[in-house]
Amino acid sequence: MNETFEALKPRLDRIMALKTAMILFEWDNETLAPQKAARLTSNVIGILSGEYFQAVDDGQVRELVKACQGDQSLTEVEKAQVRELSKEQEKLACIPREEYQDFARLTAESTRIWQEAKEADDFERFAPTLEKVIGYQKRFAAYRAKDGEKKYDVMLADYEPGFDMELLDAFFATIKKELVPLLKEVQASKVLIRDDFLRGDFSDSQQEKIGRFLAEYVGFDFSKGVMATSAHPFTTNLHNHDVRITTHYNDNLDSSLFSVIHEAGHGIYEFGVRDDLTQTLVGEGASMGMHESQSRFFENIIGRNRSFWVPIYEKIREAFPQALTDIGLDMFVNAVNKAEPGLIRTEADELTYSLHVLIRYELEKALIEEDMSVEDLPKAWADKYEAYLGIRPETMKEGVLQDIHWSQGSFGYFPSYALGSAFGAQLYAHMKKEMDFEGLLEEGKVDRIREYLREHIHQYGKLKDSRQLLKDTTNEDFDPQYYIRYLKEKYKKLYHLG
Ligand code: ZN
Repeated sequence: MNETFEALKPRLDRIMALKTAMILFEWDNETLAPQKAARLTSNVIGILSGEYFQAVDDGQVRELVKACQGDQSLTEVEKAQVRELSKEQEKLACIPREEYQDFARLTAESTRIWQEAKEADDFERFAPTLEKVIGYQKRFAAYRAKDGEKKYDVMLADYEPGFDMELLDAFFATIKKELVPLLKEVQASKVLIRDDFLRGDFSDSQQEKIGRFLAEYVGFDFSKGVMATSAHPFTTNLHNHDVRITTHYNDNLDSSLFSVIHEAGHGIYEFGVRDDLTQTLVGEGASMGMHESQSRFFENIIGRNRSFWVPIYEKIREAFPQALTDIGLDMFVNAVNKAEPGLIRTEADELTYSLHVLIRYELEKALIEEDMSVEDLPKAWADKYEAYLGIRPETMKEGVLQDIHWSQGSFGYFPSYALGSAFGAQLYAHMKKEMDFEGLLEEGKVDRIREYLREHIHQYGKLKDSRQLLKDTTNEDFDPQYYIRYLKEKYKKLYHLG
């Protein structure tokens, strides 16, 4: 190993250890931690985040990073780690340590406050906390902005570098122009798709059993991963040998089944990262957009594909006899693809999904760039749902309080869901040329598809960014038209539209 990098290595290990500890607390907070622990845990997180800050923003570490940057003898992986650390240093250098710690303490508590407000359906209870979170986020972005850079662009770059407001405005304009009318056509069509049999009283244990089966079937490795329950399904990755997913059980059968496949997709991405990147700053998915592209690929392009269910539908039918005995494969597959405007993003079908994201994108822009007040948020939210989806939430739970992201300060995250869907559609179009995609699914060979993704995407971790990964895999730059075409083709067929 190069001498300078060798000196930097224990510092990097310390940074990773602190980061891992904080992530583990985050996981614990959302899953098993008792309610009364929140305040005390937030103190611990405050201290850990201060240690982390110091470990990154340290004079000696800075000098080592500088020395490494000029050293051509570093390996590709070492160079990538230095690049990531330098980015993190640049970010933290602009933020006063005190404020950084206070913010970490705040977010450790704010998700709990959000959850309580959501349960009580009371926006007022969350509003002052949200205001504080937004205040910090705006200040941090202002500290970090390079000359003339917009605050929201700074935030967006944390989740999907290279996709700023200029690009996203164009992307979402295409979505609005193409998908709002398509949804209207679908709604006007005479085709009625039954999905009533997916609602009912399903036992948690049976849903869990099938959830585990599906996760394993698509390739989630339970020797390196666990599954728990939480209010909002999510994935926590410590490294490629420890990935934790959660799900939730309710009276919508498809909700738990597809959220498991979605989170398993996140997990599979992390498991696929090369071992020489484990527990390094580059040992995780390239970006949130690329992450969502994989989870949504497993959930939708694989999971809502008729061919996927051919080898396993009987098993699912036997697991839920009251609901599915009289329901054939085609009825089941049509039901899980039914397009219908709804209020809840995580329950949305593929067609309406991006409209939910579009709404959040516009609201985030208004909050960050146009100083819209938190007080005006519920009404603005409801107005946009009415405009794009034709429905209006009657409760806060089903409206502005539904997502966890803002309570965590994750402004700029939402667009990655829509971008991820678009990345996935582009990958799918390319993969169909390279393999008999549907044929493999019908033969139960999900592993062949997973291996392809591992080879082209997963193994690289953060060594390449999402644009590069797309380009190297498909030989083309990012092109959102693949996504529009995918949705048009799918829904025109399902609803017999001309
Ligand atoms: Zn996801």
